Amino acid sequence: MSLAVSDAAADAALVEALAAIVGRQHVVAPGEDQEPYVVDWRGRYHGRAAAVVKPADTAQVAAVVRLCAERGVTIVPQGGNTGMCGAATPDASGQAVVVRLDRLNRVRAISALANSITVEAGCILQTIQEEAEKVDRLFPLSLGAEGSCQIGGNIATNAGGTAVLRYGNTRELVLGLEVVLPDGTVLDRLHALRKNSSGYDLKQLFIGAEGTLGIVTAASLKLFPRPRVSALAMVALPEIEAVLTLMGRLRSAVGDRLASLEAMSRGQIEVIAEHVPDVAIPFALEAPWYLLIELTDTLAATDLRTPLEEALGAAFEEGLVTDAVIAESGAQAEALWKIRHSVSEGSKRAGYVVSHDSVVPLENQALFARNVERRIAEVAPEARIVMHGHIGDGNIHVLAILDAKQYPDAATAAPMVAKINAVVDDETAALGGVISAEHGIGISNRGRLGRVTNPAEIALMRRVKALLDPAGLMNPGKVLPPEA
Ligand code: FAD
Repeated sequence: MSLAVSDAAADAALVEALAAIVGRQHVVAPGEDQEPYVVDWRGRYHGRAAAVVKPADTAQVAAVVRLCAERGVTIVPQGGNTGMCGAATPDASGQAVVVRLDRLNRVRAISALANSITVEAGCILQTIQEEAEKVDRLFPLSLGAEGSCQIGGNIATNAGGTAVLRYGNTRELVLGLEVVLPDGTVLDRLHALRKNSSGYDLKQLFIGAEGTLGIVTAASLKLFPRPRVSALAMVALPEIEAVLTLMGRLRSAVGDRLASLEAMSRGQIEVIAEHVPDVAIPFALEAPWYLLIELTDTLAATDLRTPLEEALGAAFEEGLVTDAVIAESGAQAEALWKIRHSVSEGSKRAGYVVSHDSVVPLENQALFARNVERRIAEVAPEARIVMHGHIGDGNIHVLAILDAKQYPDAATAAPMVAKINAVVDDETAALGGVISAEHGIGISNRGRLGRVTNPAEIALMRRVKALLDPAGLMNPGKVLPPEA
């Protein structure tokens, strides 16, 4: 028998065994339409899979994982496939099974009294927001992909988004997890307890692990009182340094009613205006930086507009702000948010995007932005350098947009990407930051992790991985740097 025939026979046997667990209609075999599951949304990473399997519940996930463990087959967990780092894409060997969580989409419990919701991992983020709203609560995680990303993916990447300033990132929103470990054991830490000092907090291991330590099948999450009033402004700033001064003033004036601070460089807004239809920019773009400021409060009678106007009025007088628009209606607020939510789409259409996710201490943020802009321009003079970020968290996304004709794919762009990454890593390390605040490491950044992360930390990560997944079957080739 030739190797190709035996590979095909092995694939067919695996498909049959998986079908016996989930039903044949929930397995996508080689030769069937696997494209949506083996290519990332940006088209950067193209893999192959021995099968894509869609279990319906935790028991089926556990059975699939046990089967793969017995046969030594690698697994790639996949949620909405909206991730930024290729972490949900299998490699090109065609050996891995992609486990899609879409069918684990039930809300298991919700309590307005306890401010908690328990959901399965395949629930779409927006669905969870809507379920919370039905009981008059807020699930605050919010990001551009919320209509298609899944909570399992959010947990696996420790996603951030636009409300971290007030509510924290995904890690801070998780009360408990249910996880299928690499040997098929179900770890049930799903209780929605607010307090728990009973030994190690094991759930934390799986948050941000990008599917390398197990498959999250369900989560208990925190809910919050729903804001009843909000005020939104977009302001023009004469320099990035003004952001921090303004943030300090706003915090003094309105405390934790300051919910979001989203910055965009002028170049970033120009990219959006050029490539995304129906985006209305309320200014002539003359300033170098623009900032969205959102205040919210849970008491309907609270006047947020007056303190916002007063803070901005004082900022004008001091020269911290050069122009400002305050949304007069829900529709206007939506239009302003649309600018921010169009960043990924607009940038993707503008060319080949080399994007970064660094976070540095707040006090170094302006210096970081200035240094990387200058130094990327030196190594890649043809790049269009734009920035946006959850600036109150210290997280600035620096994007170097290259001409897509000159750099049509990842392989062609690789040497230039390496030069740009080296500059960003260097500045991130020098200014006390890390290279990923919220997107993760995946394939894209694993070679860079060692440049900014302490070797002792990486050694410990390898030991944890070896302990939980000794055969290395769970999302191999992701997160941890290649062994020297
Ligand atoms: P996937 O892309 O499918 O997977 C991501 C990783 O999680 C992979 O390693 C995968 O193996 C693992 N995984 C998925 N499900 C599970 C599971 N159940 N158990 C274990 N591992 C699992 N991210 C932000 O943080 N902030 C933003 O503001 C933001 N904005 C975005 C805007 C747009 C338009 C887009 C397209 C993406 C944006 N992202 C943002 C990135 C992305 O949406 C997040 O990383 C999201 O959390 C990924 O969720 P997903 O379900 O698509 O996961």
